[in-house]
Amino acid sequence: MILHASLIEQADAFSGNALLLTGPARVGKLAVAWAIAAAQNCQGARGMDGEACGVCRSCLALAAGAHPDVLLVEPRATTATGKAARRKLIPIGAVLRERDKTREYETHIYEFLEVRPSFARRVVIVGGAEHLGPEAANALLKLVEEPPHRALFLFLAEDRRSVLPTIVSRSARLGVAPLPDHTIESALIRSGHEADAELVAFAAGRAGVLADLDGVRGALEDARELDNSLGVGLLSALEAAERLEKRFDPAWHPEALRFTWRQRPAHERARADTALDALQSALEAYASPSLSFQVFALNVREAFGLS
Ligand SMILES: [Zn+2]
Repeated sequence: MILHASLIEQADAFSGNALLLTGPARVGKLAVAWAIAAAQNCQGARGMDGEACGVCRSCLALAAGAHPDVLLVEPRATTATGKAARRKLIPIGAVLRERDKTREYETHIYEFLEVRPSFARRVVIVGGAEHLGPEAANALLKLVEEPPHRALFLFLAEDRRSVLPTIVSRSARLGVAPLPDHTIESALIRSGHEADAELVAFAAGRAGVLADLDGVRGALEDARELDNSLGVGLLSALEAAERLEKRFDPAWHPEALRFTWRQRPAHERARADTALDALQSALEAYASPSLSFQVFALNVREAFGLS
C-alpha cells in the first residue's frame, strides 16, 4: 500500500543522483525509500502514481528482502570507552571494505556501486544520514556526484540541519509529512485491523507506526497497566515496574508512557518525563535494570502525587 504516493511520483520525475528525505521519526521515510527503490527497478506495469507493480521479479525480490540492487546502510551504536554513552555512527567502514576493520558491514557502498545493476538501477538507502561521520561523508562525495551506473542515493534524516552540508548541498530535498488521521484509519482498516481512536491518536499521522502494530499495541497496554498500578499501592507499583522491565522496548515504551500521561497536569507530566529520561540514561549507562525500573516507578508515583 502506497501512503505517500505523490512522493513516488516526484522521485520518478527526478533526474539527479541523490535525494534527501526528511521528516519526523517514524513518519514513513524508510517505506517511501523502499517504494522509490521498487519503482526504479520495477519491470511490470506500474500503478497510477508510478508505484511498483508488486509482482514482477524485481518487486518479488525486494519484498523477500533479497534485492541485489538495493542496499540499506544504517548507523551502528558504538561504545566509545567502557560505559560511556553509546553513540550512533555511520563510519567510513560502511563505505569502504578496507576501512571496515571489525567487519561490521556485510556490504560496503563503494564496492556495491562498482557492480552493474541486475535489474535497472542500484539504489543506496542511507538511514539516519545525520549519523554519517565526516570521514564516511567525504568518502561518499565523489560517489554521490558521479555515481557509477547512474546509481541513486536516498538519504533519510529527521532534520536536514543535522546532516553534513556536503551531503545536503548535493541532494534534492523531499519532505515526508505526517498523513491525515483518516488516511491512517483507512490504512488500518484495509490491512484488516481495527482503527481504534487511541492508536490513531498515538500514530499522529506517522505511517511508521503501522509497520509495528503489535509492538505499539503492547507498549500502550504496558504503559496503561503501569499507570493503573501506580495508584494502587507501593507493592503493586514495584510489581508493575518489574513487568515493564521484562517487556521494555526502547522503540515504543518511552513514547507510549508519555502518551498515557499526556492529559495529566503539566507539572506532573514534566516530573514524570524527567523520571523517564533518568531511566533511559541509566539503561544506556548499563545501570542495574531492575533497580532502575523500581526507582522509575517510585519517581512517577511521586510525580503524580501518589506516594
Ligand atoms: Zn514490479
